[in-house]
Parts: sequence; structure tokens; C-alpha cells
Amino acid sequence: MIVHRYTEQPCPHCGHLLDASAGFDDDAEPRAGDVSVCVACLQFSVWAWKEIAATEKTPEDAELVQQKLSPREFNELPGDVRGDLLRAQAHLEALKKAQALKEAKH
Ligand SMILES: [Zn+2]
Repeated sequence: MIVHRYTEQPCPHCGHLLDASAGFDDDAEPRAGDVSVCVACLQFSVWAWKEIAATEKTPEDAELVQQKLSPREFNELPGDVRGDLLRAQAHLEALKKAQALKEAKH
């Protein structure tokens, strides 16, 4: 499992600050069109270019940000990508449950 770190940005669903994504191969660096699962709320997001309008001091620019993945967009993903997302979501859910159990014992 390879973890790629990026500039902190909030989850588009819950606002949780995310600064890393995990991948199952060596291609974890986010790119436009890549999908991800939030570790806090387990919702799906997609990376997309967001245009930043030019100001007096800076030229027009664009930054890669995570946006909510709509159910329709999810359905349009290739089957293997959907499978990976659901597996990652289930994995995170299991981790959260294990964590909650641990905390309940204290
Ligand atoms: Zn979230």
C-alpha cells in the first residue's frame, strides 16, 4: 500500500481535512478523474480541475480538488473502479468499527 501526500484540503462532503490518499499500486498520485473515499465520512469523491480566475496579480490558474461524486457519476464508472471504491469503503468501515470497539473498552 502506497500513500501519497498532498496539500491539505477539506472533504467536499464533511469538511474533514484530508492530506493523503492510499493506493493499491504505485500510482496513488491523484489525477483528474481519480476517485477516492473519505476516511471520516466514507463518502466518495472525484478529483477534478477547478479553475481559479485571474486577478490583478496572478494569471488564470487551476488546482486539483476533490468534488462530490454523484450517484450517477458513480454508476458511470467502470465496474472494476466501482469494486475498488466499495472495497476501500468497506475496509475503512471495518477500521472505524475496530477503533470504536477499542475506545468503548476504556
Ligand atoms: Zn468526508
